[in-house]
Amino acid sequence: MLYLVPTPIGNLEDITLRALRVLKEVSVVLAEDTRTSRRLLDHYSITTPLRAFHAFNEHAVVERVVDELASGVDMALVSDAGTPGISDPGFLLVRACVRRGVKVECLPGPTAFVPALVASGLPCDTFHFEGFLPHKKGRQTRLKYLAGLPHTFVLYESPFRLLKCLDELIAVCGAERPACVARELSKLHEEVKTASLAELKTHFSKKEVKGEIVMVVAGKD
Ligand code: SAM
Repeated sequence: MLYLVPTPIGNLEDITLRALRVLKEVSVVLAEDTRTSRRLLDHYSITTPLRAFHAFNEHAVVERVVDELASGVDMALVSDAGTPGISDPGFLLVRACVRRGVKVECLPGPTAFVPALVASGLPCDTFHFEGFLPHKKGRQTRLKYLAGLPHTFVLYESPFRLLKCLDELIAVCGAERPACVARELSKLHEEVKTASLAELKTHFSKKEVKGEIVMVVAGKD
């Protein structure tokens, strides 16, 4: 059995009792960064061995991991924060397990885009999750596609590119399009600001933008 175990996106209280039990009971925890996950496991006095599983080795090790799972070794996959597979490694391993008939269970738990979307006050009945935009090639094509969507869309963005991204969104969506910047969710300096793209640009131009960011943008019309 492979368990996908969501971990906190900031506040260490945001982990479920089942997540803690599974992390304790499996034979191995596959982790994006073993040092980050060791700190988390130490916090909960969990001593399960960790093994690296990240974007740079997943292609090389995926079949070996599935062999072990198929032979009866239970494992959990965690990423640095949030739900594995959501803008993080996970998809390759899950696809390989599904193809080989290895049972996969994804525990419900933290992910950054859901609290951002729901707290934004923008329509959340239908939405598009984009994750990170490409930095260069293909970025404009994606932005134009997103601008034409009739429903809310969600982006992950780095604080260093927030102002550039707001400018790009203003160019394709117009300055008055409602949007939200959700920063440092579940952390001490959490900020969720909903306004027009132009107002967000003015607001975030006044100070150095720090921390992790989710952007939510209303659909066309
Ligand atoms: N797997 C994660 C999830 O389930 O949301 C996403 C991992 S992705 C590599 C990291 C990005 O998620 C950050 O750059 C940011 O856009 C977003 N993010 C993660 N934690 C956040 C937080 N506490 N507040 C706002 N955004 C966050």
